[in-house]
Amino acid sequence: FLSGRVALVTGSTSGIGEGIARSLASRGANVIITGFGDEQAITKLLESFKSDYNVEAVFIGGDLCKPEDVTALHKEAVKAFPSGIDILVNNAGIQHVSPIEEFPLDVWNKMMALMVTAPFQLTQLCMDSMKKKGWGRIINTSSVRGHIASPNKTGYTAAKHGLLGLTKAVAVEVAGSGVTCNALCPGCVETPLFVKQAEDRAKDQGITYEEGRAQMLAVQPSKQPVLVNDLGEAVVFMCSSAGNQMTGQSLIIDGGWVAT
Ligand code: NAD
Repeated sequence: FLSGRVALVTGSTSGIGEGIARSLASRGANVIITGFGDEQAITKLLESFKSDYNVEAVFIGGDLCKPEDVTALHKEAVKAFPSGIDILVNNAGIQHVSPIEEFPLDVWNKMMALMVTAPFQLTQLCMDSMKKKGWGRIINTSSVRGHIASPNKTGYTAAKHGLLGLTKAVAVEVAGSGVTCNALCPGCVETPLFVKQAEDRAKDQGITYEEGRAQMLAVQPSKQPVLVNDLGEAVVFMCSSAGNQMTGQSLIIDGGWVAT
């Protein structure tokens, strides 16, 4: 049902973004893949989108911490798909764990640039054509950290709360235009970002990776990680007619974590 739609998914060379791009492509959407990664791996990824889903898939690089790269990404995207972006998924993100006294200002600024400013810019750049078509979906990957805090994650928690604020503000501003804006708030998802945190725990505490992983999953009553496909399918749901009047929402998918 998304055949002919164009989806731009930031941070889709890996993890959750790739999962979301796959779910959208499996429903027929053409996809723009962005993020960092090895050239060969990206070529293979694009080929797999074409062969698995028979859609167009293009890669556009850039460092989304830099406003000029964000502008260039949008320009290239419209060059590749002149009809414009129908589905914008602001997903690229980074984590940094450190006590506030030692939290580097440049890392804080990078987190805000990537997880708040780039989504703002891309939303701004895509809005005109979405409004003209009378249909658009903006989905921002926030986190349970958009709702609840934990020690040593000031930058991440502030950025993910900020992204929820952006989501709500955009939603109410464009309500009724056919463009919706919602947030996806995952709990623990087993991606490279999650794996690195489990590895760091293991190293810091002298425990095994499995123990570090189990410690992280302990916060989720299900004790099971969220799968990237679960999130991709949630984005498909938001792009379906079920999402027509769903806007300004935060869809929490966390094995019950925030409910505890
Ligand atoms: P990941 O590390 O697997 O993927 C991150 C993606 O963002 C990659 O494609 C990477 O290249 C890209 N990226 C990073 N910095 C970038 C930059 N400066 N410019 C352009 N692209 C950049 O991580 P993930 O777990 O898939 O995370 C995706 C999103 O989901 C993030 O916003 C993250 O905060 C959020 N999230 C993750 C979890 C989890 O448990 N993994 C939980 C909640 C929310």
